[in-house]
Amino acid sequence: MGWRQWWTAAGSRLAHLWRTSLQVRTVTITLALTGIAILVTGIYMSLSIANDLYQSRLDQALRDSSRATTAAQTTLNASDITGGDSVRNLLDSALRTASTSSSSRLIAAFRVPGQEPTFLAPADRLSPGLSGDVISKELRTAVQHGGTKQFYQSVKLVSASGSSDPGIVVGSQLTLPVVGHYELYIGYDLSDAESTLVFVQNTLLLAGLALILLIGAVTWVIVRFVVRPIRVAAQTSERLAAGDLAVRMPEKGEDVFTSLARSFNGMADSLQSQINQLATLSQLQQRFVSDVSHELRTPLTTIRLAGDVIYDQRESFPPATERTAELLHTQIERFDLLLSDLLEISRYDAGSVVLDPEPTNLVRLAEDAIDGMHTLAEQNGSELRLEAPGGYFEVGMDPRRIRRIVRNLLGNAIEHGEGKPVVVMVDSNESAVALSVRDYGLGMNQQEVNHVFDRFWRADPSRKRTIGGTGLGLAISLEDATLHSGWLQVWSAPGAGSCFRLTLPRVPGRGIASSPLPLPPEDAATAGDAGDRSGRSASPGDTTAGGTAAGGARASGDRGRPTDSEAVEKAEAEVHP
Ligand code: ADP
Repeated sequence: MGWRQWWTAAGSRLAHLWRTSLQVRTVTITLALTGIAILVTGIYMSLSIANDLYQSRLDQALRDSSRATTAAQTTLNASDITGGDSVRNLLDSALRTASTSSSSRLIAAFRVPGQEPTFLAPADRLSPGLSGDVISKELRTAVQHGGTKQFYQSVKLVSASGSSDPGIVVGSQLTLPVVGHYELYIGYDLSDAESTLVFVQNTLLLAGLALILLIGAVTWVIVRFVVRPIRVAAQTSERLAAGDLAVRMPEKGEDVFTSLARSFNGMADSLQSQINQLATLSQLQQRFVSDVSHELRTPLTTIRLAGDVIYDQRESFPPATERTAELLHTQIERFDLLLSDLLEISRYDAGSVVLDPEPTNLVRLAEDAIDGMHTLAEQNGSELRLEAPGGYFEVGMDPRRIRRIVRNLLGNAIEHGEGKPVVVMVDSNESAVALSVRDYGLGMNQQEVNHVFDRFWRADPSRKRTIGGTGLGLAISLEDATLHSGWLQVWSAPGAGSCFRLTLPRVPGRGIASSPLPLPPEDAATAGDAGDRSGRSASPGDTTAGGTAAGGARASGDRGRPTDSEAVEKAEAEVHP
Protein backbone atom coordinates (compact mmCIF):
# COMPACT_ATOMS: atom_id res chain seq x y z
CA MET A 1 0.00 0.00 0.00
CA GLY A 2 1.40 3.38 -1.01
CA TRP A 3 1.68 6.28 1.40
CA ARG A 4 -1.12 8.11 -0.28
CA GLN A 5 -3.50 5.13 0.01
CA TRP A 6 -2.43 4.63 3.59
CA TRP A 7 -3.26 8.25 4.36
CA THR A 8 -6.59 8.06 2.56
CA ALA A 9 -7.50 4.86 4.44
CA ALA A 10 -6.43 6.35 7.78
CA GLY A 11 -8.34 9.56 7.00
CA SER A 12 -11.55 7.74 6.15
CA ARG A 13 -11.17 5.55 9.27
CA LEU A 14 -10.80 8.67 11.41
CA ALA A 15 -13.75 10.34 9.67
CA HIS A 16 -15.81 7.22 10.34
CA LEU A 17 -14.76 7.25 14.01
CA TRP A 18 -15.62 10.95 14.23
CA ARG A 19 -19.07 10.33 12.76
CA THR A 20 -19.91 7.22 14.73
CA SER A 21 -18.34 7.68 18.16
CA LEU A 22 -19.72 10.32 20.51
CA GLN A 23 -16.82 9.55 22.84
CA VAL A 24 -14.16 10.32 20.21
CA ARG A 25 -15.96 13.50 19.20
CA THR A 26 -16.31 14.81 22.75
CA VAL A 27 -12.72 13.98 23.70
CA THR A 28 -11.32 15.56 20.52
CA ILE A 29 -13.33 18.75 20.98
CA THR A 30 -12.37 18.96 24.68
CA LEU A 31 -8.69 18.42 23.83
CA ALA A 32 -8.77 21.06 21.11
CA LEU A 33 -10.49 23.65 23.32
CA THR A 34 -8.34 23.02 26.41
CA GLY A 35 -5.25 22.96 24.16
CA ILE A 36 -6.11 26.42 22.83
CA ALA A 37 -6.89 27.72 26.34
CA ILE A 38 -3.63 26.35 27.77
CA LEU A 39 -1.62 27.69 24.83
CA VAL A 40 -3.04 31.20 25.22
CA THR A 41 -2.53 31.14 29.01
CA GLY A 42 1.01 29.75 28.58
CA ILE A 43 2.00 32.41 26.08
CA TYR A 44 0.57 35.15 28.29
CA MET A 45 2.32 33.82 31.40
CA SER A 46 5.62 33.37 29.60
CA LEU A 47 5.51 36.91 28.17
CA SER A 48 4.58 38.52 31.45
CA ILE A 49 7.29 36.58 33.37
CA ALA A 50 9.89 37.55 30.74
CA ASN A 51 8.85 41.19 30.98
CA ASP A 52 8.92 41.14 34.74
CA LEU A 53 12.31 39.48 34.87
CA TYR A 54 13.81 42.00 32.44
CA GLN A 55 12.29 44.96 34.26
CA SER A 56 13.63 43.88 37.64
CA ARG A 57 17.08 43.18 36.21
CA LEU A 58 17.04 46.58 34.49
CA ASP A 59 16.09 48.37 37.72
CA GLN A 60 18.81 46.48 39.49
CA ALA A 61 21.36 47.43 36.79
CA LEU A 62 20.37 51.11 36.88
CA ARG A 63 20.66 51.22 40.66
CA ASP A 64 23.94 49.38 40.58
CA SER A 65 25.40 51.58 37.84
CA SER A 66 24.27 54.75 39.59
CA ARG A 67 25.96 53.64 42.80
CA ALA A 68 29.17 52.74 40.95
CA THR A 69 29.22 56.02 39.03
CA THR A 70 28.67 58.04 42.21
CA ALA A 71 31.47 56.13 43.95
CA ALA A 72 33.84 56.72 41.01
CA GLN A 73 32.93 60.41 40.83
CA THR A 74 33.50 60.74 44.58
CA THR A 75 36.96 59.22 44.13
CA LEU A 76 37.66 61.69 41.32
CA ASN A 77 36.41 64.69 43.29
CA ALA A 78 38.53 63.83 46.27
CA SER A 79 41.77 63.68 44.27
CA ASP A 80 44.63 66.07 44.05
CA ILE A 81 46.22 66.06 40.59
CA THR A 82 49.74 67.04 39.85
CA GLY A 83 50.65 65.55 36.42
CA GLY A 84 49.67 63.31 33.48
CA ASP A 85 50.54 60.09 35.29
CA SER A 86 48.46 60.95 38.23
CA VAL A 87 45.45 61.77 35.94
CA ARG A 88 45.84 58.33 34.29
CA ASN A 89 46.13 56.70 37.69
CA LEU A 90 43.18 58.67 38.90
CA LEU A 91 40.96 57.35 36.06
CA ASP A 92 42.14 53.80 36.75
CA SER A 93 41.44 54.15 40.42
CA ALA A 94 38.00 55.66 39.69
CA LEU A 95 37.22 52.75 37.37
CA ARG A 96 38.43 50.29 40.00
CA THR A 97 36.13 51.94 42.55
CA ALA A 98 33.26 51.70 40.10
CA SER A 99 34.08 48.05 39.48
CA THR A 100 34.28 47.17 43.17
CA SER A 101 31.09 49.01 44.08
CA SER A 102 29.15 47.44 41.19
CA SER A 103 28.31 43.80 40.59
CA SER A 104 29.76 43.93 37.09
CA ARG A 105 33.31 43.69 35.79
CA LEU A 106 32.35 44.95 32.36
CA ILE A 107 33.44 48.58 32.43
CA ALA A 108 34.48 50.94 29.65
CA ALA A 109 35.42 54.60 29.64
CA PHE A 110 35.77 56.94 26.65
CA ARG A 111 36.80 60.55 26.62
CA VAL A 112 33.82 62.64 25.43
CA PRO A 113 34.82 63.88 21.98
CA GLY A 114 34.85 67.60 21.09
CA GLN A 115 36.89 68.66 24.20
CA GLU A 116 40.18 70.44 23.91
CA PRO A 117 42.90 67.85 23.23
CA THR A 118 45.46 67.55 25.94
CA PHE A 119 48.28 65.08 26.30
CA LEU A 120 47.29 64.75 29.95
CA ALA A 121 44.00 62.99 29.00
CA PRO A 122 44.20 59.30 29.73
CA ALA A 123 43.38 56.91 26.86
CA ASP A 124 40.00 55.12 26.58
CA ARG A 125 39.56 52.05 28.76
CA LEU A 126 37.79 48.89 27.64
CA SER A 127 37.40 45.74 29.70
CA PRO A 128 37.29 42.47 27.73
CA GLY A 129 33.72 41.51 26.91
CA LEU A 130 32.60 45.10 26.50
CA SER A 131 34.17 46.10 23.22
CA GLY A 132 33.41 49.35 21.47
CA ASP A 133 31.05 47.58 18.91
CA VAL A 134 28.66 46.47 21.66
CA ILE A 135 27.86 50.05 22.62
CA SER A 136 25.85 51.67 19.88
CA LYS A 137 26.46 55.10 18.47
CA GLU A 138 23.05 56.28 19.63
CA LEU A 139 23.79 55.37 23.24
CA ARG A 140 27.15 57.06 23.08
CA THR A 141 25.66 60.24 21.63
CA ALA A 142 22.97 60.26 24.30
CA VAL A 143 25.54 59.84 27.07
CA GLN A 144 27.85 62.49 25.55
CA HIS A 145 25.04 65.05 25.60
CA GLY A 146 23.18 63.87 28.65
CA GLY A 147 25.35 65.33 31.38
CA THR A 148 24.92 63.34 34.58
CA LYS A 149 21.85 61.42 33.33
CA GLN A 150 21.80 57.63 32.97
CA PHE A 151 21.14 55.92 29.65
CA TYR A 152 20.82 52.25 28.95
CA GLN A 153 20.53 49.84 26.06
CA SER A 154 19.86 46.11 25.58
CA VAL A 155 22.84 44.48 23.93
CA LYS A 156 24.36 41.15 23.02
CA LEU A 157 27.45 40.51 25.11
CA VAL A 158 30.05 38.19 23.62
CA SER A 159 31.60 36.08 26.35
CA ALA A 160 35.19 34.77 26.43
CA SER A 161 33.99 31.40 25.13
CA GLY A 162 32.52 33.18 22.10
CA SER A 163 28.84 32.68 22.99
CA SER A 164 26.66 35.74 22.90
CA ASP A 165 24.46 36.45 25.92
CA PRO A 166 21.77 39.06 26.46
CA GLY A 167 22.82 42.06 28.49
CA ILE A 168 22.26 45.71 29.37
CA VAL A 169 24.78 48.50 29.08
CA VAL A 170 24.19 51.56 31.31
CA GLY A 171 26.09 54.73 30.44
CA SER A 172 26.69 58.05 32.26
CA GLN A 173 29.36 60.74 32.46
CA LEU A 174 32.34 61.08 34.81
CA THR A 175 34.16 64.37 35.18
CA LEU A 176 37.91 64.19 35.58
CA PRO A 177 39.76 67.22 36.94
CA VAL A 178 41.88 69.06 34.33
CA VAL A 179 41.08 66.71 31.37
CA GLY A 180 37.30 67.00 31.31
CA HIS A 181 34.39 64.53 30.74
CA TYR A 182 34.54 60.79 30.23
CA GLU A 183 31.74 58.43 29.25
CA LEU A 184 31.44 55.57 31.68
CA TYR A 185 29.70 52.34 30.55
CA ILE A 186 28.95 49.38 32.77
CA GLY A 187 27.65 46.16 31.15
CA TYR A 188 25.37 43.67 32.94
CA ASP A 189 25.05 40.07 31.84
CA LEU A 190 21.38 38.89 31.76
CA SER A 191 22.09 35.26 30.85
CA ASP A 192 21.02 34.07 34.30
CA ALA A 193 17.65 35.81 33.80
CA GLU A 194 17.39 34.20 30.39
CA SER A 195 18.04 30.73 31.74
CA THR A 196 15.45 31.32 34.44
CA LEU A 197 13.00 32.28 31.69
CA VAL A 198 13.84 29.17 29.63
CA PHE A 199 13.33 27.03 32.73
CA VAL A 200 9.96 28.66 33.43
CA GLN A 201 8.89 28.23 29.77
CA ASN A 202 9.88 24.56 29.73
CA THR A 203 8.02 23.98 32.97
CA LEU A 204 4.94 25.72 31.54
CA LEU A 205 5.12 23.61 28.36
CA LEU A 206 5.45 20.34 30.25
CA ALA A 207 2.72 21.27 32.69
CA GLY A 208 0.47 22.30 29.76
CA LEU A 209 1.03 19.01 27.94
CA ALA A 210 0.45 17.01 31.11
CA LEU A 211 -2.72 18.98 31.79
CA ILE A 212 -4.02 18.35 28.25
CA LEU A 213 -3.36 14.62 28.57
CA LEU A 214 -4.97 14.55 31.99
CA ILE A 215 -8.05 16.44 30.80
CA GLY A 216 -8.25 14.11 27.76
CA ALA A 217 -8.13 11.04 29.97
CA VAL A 218 -10.66 12.44 32.42
CA THR A 219 -13.04 13.40 29.60
CA TRP A 220 -12.64 9.93 28.06
CA VAL A 221 -13.57 8.28 31.34
CA ILE A 222 -16.49 10.64 32.03
CA VAL A 223 -17.89 10.37 28.51
CA ARG A 224 -17.58 6.59 28.77
CA PHE A 225 -19.68 6.72 31.90
CA VAL A 226 -22.24 8.99 30.28
CA VAL A 227 -22.32 7.24 26.92
CA ARG A 228 -22.75 3.71 28.28
CA PRO A 229 -26.37 4.20 29.39
CA ILE A 230 -27.13 6.05 26.15
CA ARG A 231 -25.70 3.13 24.20
CA VAL A 232 -27.80 0.72 26.22
CA ALA A 233 -30.85 2.90 25.54
CA ALA A 234 -30.11 2.94 21.79
CA GLN A 235 -29.63 -0.84 21.65
CA THR A 236 -32.76 -1.43 23.68
CA SER A 237 -34.90 0.81 21.50
CA GLU A 238 -33.47 -0.85 18.39
CA ARG A 239 -34.49 -4.25 19.72
CA LEU A 240 -37.89 -2.87 20.68
CA ALA A 241 -38.31 -1.45 17.17
CA ALA A 242 -37.33 -4.83 15.74
CA GLY A 243 -40.29 -6.36 17.56
CA ASP A 244 -38.74 -7.64 20.79
CA LEU A 245 -41.45 -6.17 22.99
CA ALA A 246 -40.20 -7.79 26.20
CA VAL A 247 -36.84 -5.96 26.18
CA ARG A 248 -36.26 -3.42 29.00
CA MET A 249 -33.50 -1.04 30.15
CA PRO A 250 -31.77 -1.76 33.47
CA GLU A 251 -32.94 0.61 36.24
CA LYS A 252 -30.07 1.20 38.67
CA GLY A 253 -29.50 4.16 40.98
CA GLU A 254 -31.35 7.45 41.22
CA ASP A 255 -29.76 9.60 38.52
CA VAL A 256 -31.15 11.08 35.32
CA PHE A 257 -30.35 7.92 33.36
CA THR A 258 -32.36 5.85 35.75
CA SER A 259 -35.29 8.16 35.25
CA LEU A 260 -34.73 7.88 31.48
CA ALA A 261 -34.65 4.08 31.83
CA ARG A 262 -37.76 4.18 33.97
CA SER A 263 -39.74 6.30 31.50
CA PHE A 264 -38.42 4.23 28.58
CA ASN A 265 -39.51 1.04 30.31
CA GLY A 266 -42.86 2.63 31.09
CA MET A 267 -43.26 3.48 27.42
CA ALA A 268 -42.27 -0.07 26.41
CA ASP A 269 -44.76 -1.49 28.94
CA SER A 270 -47.62 0.56 27.60
CA LEU A 271 -46.58 -0.20 24.01
CA GLN A 272 -46.45 -3.90 24.77
CA SER A 273 -49.79 -3.91 26.52
CA GLN A 274 -51.42 -1.91 23.71
CA ILE A 275 -49.98 -4.17 21.05
CA ASN A 276 -51.06 -7.22 23.03
CA GLN A 277 -54.48 -5.70 23.40
CA LEU A 278 -54.66 -5.00 19.67
CA ALA A 279 -53.42 -8.48 18.88
CA THR A 280 -56.01 -9.97 21.22
CA LEU A 281 -58.67 -7.75 19.71
CA SER A 282 -57.63 -8.70 16.21
CA GLN A 283 -57.62 -12.38 17.20
CA LEU A 284 -61.02 -11.91 18.77
CA GLN A 285 -62.30 -10.29 15.60
CA GLN A 286 -60.87 -13.07 13.48
CA ARG A 287 -62.36 -15.66 15.82
CA PHE A 288 -65.65 -13.81 15.74
CA VAL A 289 -65.76 -13.75 11.93
CA SER A 290 -64.73 -17.38 11.78
CA ASP A 291 -67.20 -18.44 14.50
CA VAL A 292 -70.08 -16.46 13.00
CA SER A 293 -69.35 -17.91 9.57
CA HIS A 294 -69.27 -21.42 11.04
CA GLU A 295 -72.42 -20.85 13.06
CA LEU A 296 -74.23 -19.48 10.03
CA ARG A 297 -73.26 -22.49 7.96
CA THR A 298 -75.80 -24.92 9.52
CA PRO A 299 -78.86 -22.65 9.41
CA LEU A 300 -77.85 -21.57 5.93
CA THR A 301 -77.69 -25.18 4.74
CA THR A 302 -81.21 -25.72 6.07
CA ILE A 303 -82.42 -22.46 4.50
CA ARG A 304 -80.72 -23.46 1.28
CA LEU A 305 -82.43 -26.87 1.22
CA ALA A 306 -85.79 -25.29 1.97
CA GLY A 307 -85.13 -22.57 -0.62
CA ASP A 308 -84.23 -25.20 -3.23
CA VAL A 309 -87.55 -26.99 -2.59
CA ILE A 310 -89.45 -23.71 -2.97
CA TYR A 311 -87.41 -22.76 -6.04
CA ASP A 312 -88.09 -26.16 -7.69
CA GLN A 313 -91.82 -25.63 -7.23
CA ARG A 314 -91.86 -21.98 -8.29
CA GLU A 315 -93.86 -22.65 -11.45
CA SER A 316 -96.82 -23.77 -9.38
CA PHE A 317 -96.92 -20.41 -7.54
CA PRO A 318 -98.71 -17.26 -8.57
CA PRO A 319 -96.35 -14.96 -10.60
CA ALA A 320 -95.52 -12.61 -7.66
CA THR A 321 -94.60 -15.53 -5.38
CA GLU A 322 -92.65 -17.15 -8.21
CA ARG A 323 -90.56 -13.98 -8.54
CA THR A 324 -89.99 -13.98 -4.77
CA ALA A 325 -88.85 -17.61 -4.90
CA GLU A 326 -86.33 -16.75 -7.62
CA LEU A 327 -85.07 -13.76 -5.64
CA LEU A 328 -84.76 -15.92 -2.53
CA HIS A 329 -82.76 -18.47 -4.50
CA THR A 330 -80.25 -15.88 -5.88
CA GLN A 331 -79.76 -14.24 -2.51
CA ILE A 332 -79.24 -17.61 -0.79
CA GLU A 333 -76.59 -18.39 -3.44
CA ARG A 334 -74.84 -15.07 -2.72
CA PHE A 335 -75.08 -15.64 0.99
CA ASP A 336 -73.51 -19.06 0.56
CA LEU A 337 -70.69 -17.59 -1.54
CA LEU A 338 -70.05 -14.83 0.96
CA LEU A 339 -69.89 -17.34 3.82
CA SER A 340 -67.39 -19.52 1.95
CA ASP A 341 -65.22 -16.49 1.18
CA LEU A 342 -65.37 -15.29 4.77
CA LEU A 343 -64.39 -18.70 6.07
CA GLU A 344 -61.52 -18.85 3.61
CA ILE A 345 -60.18 -15.40 4.50
CA SER A 346 -60.46 -16.14 8.24
CA ARG A 347 -58.45 -19.32 7.65
CA TYR A 348 -55.75 -17.14 6.06
CA ASP A 349 -55.87 -14.71 8.98
CA ALA A 350 -55.52 -17.56 11.43
CA GLY A 351 -52.50 -18.78 9.47
CA SER A 352 -54.05 -22.22 9.20
CA VAL A 353 -53.85 -22.47 5.42
CA VAL A 354 -51.60 -25.17 4.00
CA LEU A 355 -50.69 -25.64 0.40
CA ASP A 356 -51.61 -28.95 -1.16
CA PRO A 357 -49.44 -28.99 -4.28
CA GLU A 358 -49.60 -31.53 -7.07
CA PRO A 359 -48.19 -31.52 -10.62
CA THR A 360 -50.60 -29.46 -12.66
CA ASN A 361 -50.71 -28.34 -16.27
CA LEU A 362 -51.67 -24.66 -16.23
CA VAL A 363 -52.94 -24.74 -19.86
CA ARG A 364 -55.28 -27.65 -19.06
CA LEU A 365 -56.41 -25.88 -15.91
CA ALA A 366 -57.16 -22.72 -17.92
CA GLU A 367 -59.12 -24.75 -20.51
CA ASP A 368 -61.20 -26.38 -17.76
CA ALA A 369 -61.90 -23.00 -16.13
CA ILE A 370 -62.89 -21.48 -19.49
CA ASP A 371 -65.25 -24.43 -20.13
CA GLY A 372 -66.79 -23.89 -16.71
CA MET A 373 -67.41 -20.18 -17.40
CA HIS A 374 -68.78 -20.70 -20.90
CA THR A 375 -72.44 -20.29 -20.04
CA LEU A 376 -71.81 -17.11 -18.08
CA ALA A 377 -69.69 -15.72 -20.92
CA GLU A 378 -72.44 -16.47 -23.41
CA GLN A 379 -75.01 -14.79 -21.19
CA ASN A 380 -72.84 -11.66 -21.17
CA GLY A 381 -72.09 -11.93 -24.88
CA SER A 382 -68.35 -12.30 -24.30
CA GLU A 383 -66.19 -14.65 -26.27
CA LEU A 384 -63.58 -16.53 -24.21
CA ARG A 385 -60.30 -17.14 -26.06
CA LEU A 386 -57.24 -19.07 -24.94
CA GLU A 387 -53.79 -18.34 -26.35
CA ALA A 388 -51.06 -20.54 -24.97
CA PRO A 389 -47.66 -20.28 -26.63
CA GLY A 390 -46.08 -22.13 -23.69
CA GLY A 391 -46.79 -23.69 -20.34
CA TYR A 392 -47.70 -27.21 -21.54
CA PHE A 393 -45.96 -28.98 -18.72
CA GLU A 394 -46.70 -29.85 -15.17
CA VAL A 395 -45.73 -27.53 -12.38
CA GLY A 396 -46.22 -28.13 -8.65
CA MET A 397 -49.20 -26.03 -7.49
CA ASP A 398 -52.38 -26.35 -5.48
CA PRO A 399 -54.85 -26.81 -8.38
CA ARG A 400 -57.91 -26.03 -6.25
CA ARG A 401 -56.55 -22.61 -5.30
CA ILE A 402 -55.16 -21.77 -8.74
CA ARG A 403 -58.48 -22.77 -10.33
CA ARG A 404 -60.21 -20.48 -7.87
CA ILE A 405 -57.93 -17.58 -8.90
CA VAL A 406 -58.51 -18.20 -12.62
CA ARG A 407 -62.28 -18.54 -12.17
CA ASN A 408 -62.35 -15.32 -10.16
CA LEU A 409 -60.31 -13.44 -12.79
CA LEU A 410 -62.48 -14.84 -15.58
CA GLY A 411 -65.67 -14.01 -13.69
CA ASN A 412 -64.51 -10.42 -13.14
CA ALA A 413 -63.39 -10.07 -16.79
CA ILE A 414 -66.75 -11.33 -18.07
CA GLU A 415 -68.67 -9.20 -15.60
CA HIS A 416 -66.76 -5.98 -16.35
CA GLY A 417 -65.89 -6.85 -19.99
CA GLU A 418 -69.03 -5.27 -21.51
CA GLY A 419 -69.57 -8.18 -23.87
CA LYS A 420 -66.20 -7.81 -25.50
CA PRO A 421 -63.85 -10.79 -25.91
CA VAL A 422 -61.84 -12.02 -22.96
CA VAL A 423 -58.39 -13.38 -23.80
CA VAL A 424 -56.62 -15.83 -21.51
CA MET A 425 -52.89 -16.26 -22.15
CA VAL A 426 -50.56 -18.86 -20.73
CA ASP A 427 -46.80 -18.88 -21.23
CA SER A 428 -43.61 -19.96 -19.50
CA ASN A 429 -39.93 -19.14 -19.20
CA GLU A 430 -36.99 -20.68 -17.32
CA SER A 431 -38.18 -19.54 -13.91
CA ALA A 432 -41.94 -19.18 -14.12
CA VAL A 433 -45.31 -20.01 -15.66
CA ALA A 434 -47.87 -17.27 -16.06
CA LEU A 435 -51.51 -16.81 -16.91
CA SER A 436 -53.11 -13.51 -17.80
CA VAL A 437 -56.76 -12.59 -18.25
CA ARG A 438 -57.31 -9.63 -20.54
CA ASP A 439 -60.64 -7.90 -21.04
CA TYR A 440 -61.55 -4.85 -23.07
CA GLY A 441 -64.31 -3.59 -20.84
CA LEU A 442 -64.75 -0.68 -18.46
CA GLY A 443 -61.29 -0.77 -16.98
CA MET A 444 -60.28 1.11 -13.83
CA ASN A 445 -58.48 4.34 -13.04
CA GLN A 446 -55.32 4.54 -10.92
CA GLN A 447 -57.20 5.08 -7.68
CA GLU A 448 -59.42 2.08 -8.26
CA VAL A 449 -56.41 -0.03 -9.22
CA ASN A 450 -54.79 0.90 -5.91
CA HIS A 451 -57.68 -0.71 -4.03
CA VAL A 452 -58.45 -3.62 -6.25
CA PHE A 453 -56.95 -6.21 -3.87
CA ASP A 454 -58.53 -4.69 -0.76
CA ARG A 455 -61.09 -6.71 1.13
CA PHE A 456 -64.74 -5.88 0.41
CA TRP A 457 -63.69 -3.19 -2.06
CA ARG A 458 -65.68 -2.68 -5.23
CA ALA A 459 -65.15 0.05 -7.82
CA ASP A 460 -68.82 0.86 -7.92
CA PRO A 461 -71.02 -1.04 -5.50
CA SER A 462 -74.05 -0.02 -7.54
CA ARG A 463 -72.73 -1.70 -10.69
CA LYS A 464 -74.96 -4.39 -12.04
CA ARG A 465 -73.87 -7.71 -10.56
CA THR A 466 -74.60 -10.88 -12.46
CA ILE A 467 -72.50 -13.41 -10.61
CA GLY A 468 -72.93 -11.98 -7.16
CA GLY A 469 -69.39 -10.98 -6.18
CA THR A 470 -68.55 -10.42 -2.53
CA GLY A 471 -65.62 -8.02 -2.87
CA LEU A 472 -63.39 -10.71 -1.36
CA GLY A 473 -62.52 -12.55 -4.57
CA LEU A 474 -59.29 -10.71 -5.43
CA ALA A 475 -58.21 -10.49 -1.79
CA ILE A 476 -58.42 -14.30 -1.57
CA SER A 477 -56.74 -14.66 -4.98
CA LEU A 478 -53.84 -12.54 -3.76
CA GLU A 479 -53.49 -14.69 -0.64
CA ASP A 480 -53.56 -17.80 -2.81
CA ALA A 481 -50.86 -16.41 -5.14
CA THR A 482 -48.73 -15.31 -2.20
CA LEU A 483 -49.02 -18.77 -0.67
CA HIS A 484 -47.49 -20.13 -3.88
CA SER A 485 -44.65 -17.55 -3.70
CA GLY A 486 -46.18 -16.15 -6.85
CA TRP A 487 -47.22 -12.73 -8.10
CA LEU A 488 -50.67 -11.40 -8.83
CA GLN A 489 -50.55 -8.12 -10.72
CA VAL A 490 -52.93 -5.87 -12.57
CA TRP A 491 -52.84 -3.30 -15.30
CA SER A 492 -55.92 -1.31 -16.16
CA ALA A 493 -56.98 1.84 -17.96
CA PRO A 494 -60.46 3.38 -18.09
CA GLY A 495 -62.12 2.36 -21.33
CA ALA A 496 -59.17 0.19 -22.37
CA GLY A 497 -59.98 -2.79 -20.17
CA SER A 498 -57.89 -4.62 -17.65
CA CYS A 499 -55.27 -7.31 -17.56
CA PHE A 500 -54.64 -9.45 -14.48
CA ARG A 501 -51.47 -11.53 -14.54
CA LEU A 502 -50.72 -14.49 -12.30
CA THR A 503 -47.09 -15.64 -12.24
CA LEU A 504 -46.00 -18.79 -10.41
CA PRO A 505 -42.50 -20.16 -9.88
CA ARG A 506 -41.70 -23.23 -11.99
CA VAL A 507 -40.11 -24.87 -8.99
CA PRO A 508 -42.19 -24.25 -5.84
CA GLY A 509 -40.40 -21.98 -3.37
CA ARG A 510 -37.80 -20.91 -5.94
CA GLY A 511 -37.70 -17.22 -6.94
CA ILE A 512 -39.22 -15.76 -10.09
CA ALA A 513 -36.70 -13.91 -12.26
CA SER A 514 -39.28 -12.38 -14.61
CA SER A 515 -42.77 -13.12 -15.80
CA PRO A 516 -43.14 -14.78 -19.22
CA LEU A 517 -46.12 -12.56 -20.04
CA PRO A 518 -45.86 -8.80 -20.52
CA LEU A 519 -47.68 -6.37 -18.24
CA PRO A 520 -49.04 -3.95 -19.42
CA PRO A 521 -50.25 -6.27 -22.20
CA GLU A 522 -48.79 -5.82 -25.68
CA ASP A 523 -52.02 -4.33 -27.04
CA ALA A 524 -52.28 -1.84 -24.18
CA ALA A 525 -50.82 1.02 -26.22
CA THR A 526 -53.43 0.71 -28.98
CA ALA A 527 -56.46 -0.20 -26.91
CA GLY A 528 -59.05 2.48 -26.23
CA ASP A 529 -58.14 5.47 -24.09
CA ALA A 530 -54.53 4.77 -23.34
CA GLY A 531 -54.02 8.14 -21.71
CA ASP A 532 -54.71 7.02 -18.21
CA ARG A 533 -52.88 3.81 -17.58
CA SER A 534 -52.83 2.14 -14.25
CA GLY A 535 -50.79 -0.63 -12.84
CA ARG A 536 -50.96 -2.46 -9.58
CA SER A 537 -49.07 -5.42 -8.43
CA ALA A 538 -48.80 -7.62 -5.47
CA SER A 539 -46.24 -10.27 -4.96
CA PRO A 540 -44.44 -12.01 -2.15
CA GLY A 541 -41.23 -11.30 -4.06
CA ASP A 542 -41.71 -7.76 -2.97
CA THR A 543 -40.01 -7.31 0.39
CA THR A 544 -42.85 -5.15 1.63
CA ALA A 545 -45.30 -7.95 0.96
CA GLY A 546 -47.25 -9.08 3.96
CA GLY A 547 -49.98 -11.56 4.44
CA THR A 548 -52.79 -9.20 3.62
CA ALA A 549 -53.76 -7.67 0.37
CA ALA A 550 -53.34 -4.17 1.65
CA GLY A 551 -49.80 -4.77 2.88
CA GLY A 552 -48.79 -7.13 0.14
CA ALA A 553 -49.92 -5.03 -2.74
CA ARG A 554 -48.06 -2.07 -4.10
CA ALA A 555 -49.00 0.28 -6.84
CA SER A 556 -46.65 0.24 -9.75
CA GLY A 557 -48.16 3.41 -11.11
CA ASP A 558 -48.44 4.69 -14.63
CA ARG A 559 -45.81 3.05 -16.74
CA GLY A 560 -46.43 5.10 -19.87
CA ARG A 561 -46.70 3.65 -23.35
CA PRO A 562 -44.68 0.45 -23.60
CA THR A 563 -43.40 0.17 -27.15
CA ASP A 564 -41.18 -2.86 -26.82
CA SER A 565 -40.59 -5.77 -24.54
CA GLU A 566 -37.72 -3.96 -22.85
CA ALA A 567 -40.08 -1.31 -21.53
CA VAL A 568 -42.27 -4.01 -20.11
CA GLU A 569 -39.35 -5.77 -18.46
CA LYS A 570 -38.34 -2.48 -16.95
CA ALA A 571 -41.78 -1.97 -15.51
CA GLU A 572 -41.64 -5.43 -14.01
CA ALA A 573 -38.19 -4.91 -12.63
CA GLU A 574 -39.47 -1.90 -10.76
CA VAL A 575 -42.36 -3.80 -9.36
CA HIS A 576 -40.15 -6.65 -8.13
CA PRO A 577 -36.91 -5.45 -6.77
P1 ADP B 1 -66.06 -9.01 -6.59
O1 ADP B 1 -66.54 -10.18 -5.86
O2 ADP B 1 -66.81 -7.76 -6.31
O3 ADP B 1 -65.80 -9.27 -8.02
P2 ADP B 1 -63.24 -8.85 -6.47
O4 ADP B 1 -62.32 -8.78 -5.33
O5 ADP B 1 -63.10 -9.99 -7.39
O6 ADP B 1 -64.67 -8.76 -5.88
O7 ADP B 1 -63.11 -7.51 -7.28
C1 ADP B 1 -63.16 -6.28 -6.59
C2 ADP B 1 -63.56 -5.17 -7.50
O8 ADP B 1 -62.55 -4.93 -8.46
C3 ADP B 1 -64.78 -5.45 -8.33
O9 ADP B 1 -65.94 -5.16 -7.62
C4 ADP B 1 -64.59 -4.51 -9.50
O10 ADP B 1 -65.05 -3.22 -9.18
C5 ADP B 1 -63.10 -4.46 -9.66
N1 ADP B 1 -62.64 -5.33 -10.76
C6 ADP B 1 -62.17 -6.58 -10.66
N2 ADP B 1 -61.85 -7.07 -11.87
C7 ADP B 1 -62.15 -6.10 -12.76
C8 ADP B 1 -62.06 -6.01 -14.21
N3 ADP B 1 -61.60 -7.01 -14.94
N4 ADP B 1 -62.46 -4.86 -14.79
C9 ADP B 1 -62.92 -3.83 -14.05
N5 ADP B 1 -63.04 -3.86 -12.69
C10 ADP B 1 -62.67 -4.99 -12.07
